[in-house]
Amino acid sequence: MKTILKCGMLFSAADESVQKDVAVVVEGNRIERVCPVNEADTADARVIDLSDKFVMPGLIDGHLHVSMNGEANGMAEAPFLKLGDIAYRAMNYVKADLMAGFTTIRCEGDPGFIDVSLRDAIEKGLAVGPRMQCSGISLSSTGGHGDYHFNPDIQGGEFCSICNSPDEARAAARYTFKYGADQVKLMATGGVMSKGDEPGACEMTFEEMKAACEVARFRGKTSSAHAHGAEGIKNAIRAGITSIEHGMLIDDEGIDMLVEYGTYLIPTIIAAYRIIQYGKEAGIPDYAVEKAELCLKNHAEHLKVMVKKGVKIGFGTDTGTPYSHHGEQAFEFQLMEESGIPAAYCLQAATKVNAALIRREEELGTIEPGKLADIVAFGGNPLEDGMKSMMDCRFVMKDGVVYKE
Ligand SMILES: [Zn+2]
Repeated sequence: MKTILKCGMLFSAADESVQKDVAVVVEGNRIERVCPVNEADTADARVIDLSDKFVMPGLIDGHLHVSMNGEANGMAEAPFLKLGDIAYRAMNYVKADLMAGFTTIRCEGDPGFIDVSLRDAIEKGLAVGPRMQCSGISLSSTGGHGDYHFNPDIQGGEFCSICNSPDEARAAARYTFKYGADQVKLMATGGVMSKGDEPGACEMTFEEMKAACEVARFRGKTSSAHAHGAEGIKNAIRAGITSIEHGMLIDDEGIDMLVEYGTYLIPTIIAAYRIIQYGKEAGIPDYAVEKAELCLKNHAEHLKVMVKKGVKIGFGTDTGTPYSHHGEQAFEFQLMEESGIPAAYCLQAATKVNAALIRREEELGTIEPGKLADIVAFGGNPLEDGMKSMMDCRFVMKDGVVYKE
């Protein structure tokens, strides 16, 4: 049976326009056609009235963690949890993402391949959640952003493979792909929540990252690099990385290289914003609050330059980090707009741009005939009423199935 969505406002994301009073005809799990409402044949069709809603393609969160949900210091607690505990919690977290309009999520590092297992369970219909692009086990250097065990008898662990040479990075990348990862995640520089490192400092070397990116390329897979410091960002870009995550301490040369290499930048403004907003009083470690302040200081200015120069800016939230909860990450849209990113582009970043980032632009990211029926609707028009409308998800269809109405 066909489903006809009567849309008061439709933002297809193919361009920046909003169409009024159109129908989206869905057959099975695909979009069959988009036409004026009065031309849609409603005989024998299920009709869903979204005439007072803002309809757009399902959102894609390009950076989150399904193993955490805003704990004040999740990285410190992680070694005390069993993988089963984490996996069961994750089932609820991804459901919250879906209900907020995120029909696809890109997992940027979780322990024990729980992201891969959850992805497969959702695909088999054993759990409810978004489409998932998974990193499996990330790669970090000793003492790096992903090396969070502080017992000298434990090296690495369930969250990261510890690599200290190109050969080790190559082996670790092969390992994560062996168990079903869709991409490889590298820790190029220090981070905010990690104890004892500096966001500006390089951690994995160019040679190590090149070896891991090569493994991804051989398999037709993508890669991403957690990178704050300018030198680490440039090393990752040269190494052939698909996307730079955070990128908050970038310099002009780095911005030009993003353009030259066609590398994506995922800003995750909300991650640093929430850490500063809640602060030490809320139980976030002092060092993390200080590092977040350093990182966020010039981020908006850099983003303005990136918009001007035509950097491919995607949408990602780092949901799971302190006080960034699953299902509430659409606040990032407001922060992006406040940083000078044009409103229509913010919506395209989370749809069309991110679909290309995960190499699924043939099937996802816009509302056009032939694409998969991932369609969501919001209570207001974010292009006129402000980006807060993106927090008000009223309708979710994924793969032709309605999850929220
Ligand atoms: Zn992250």
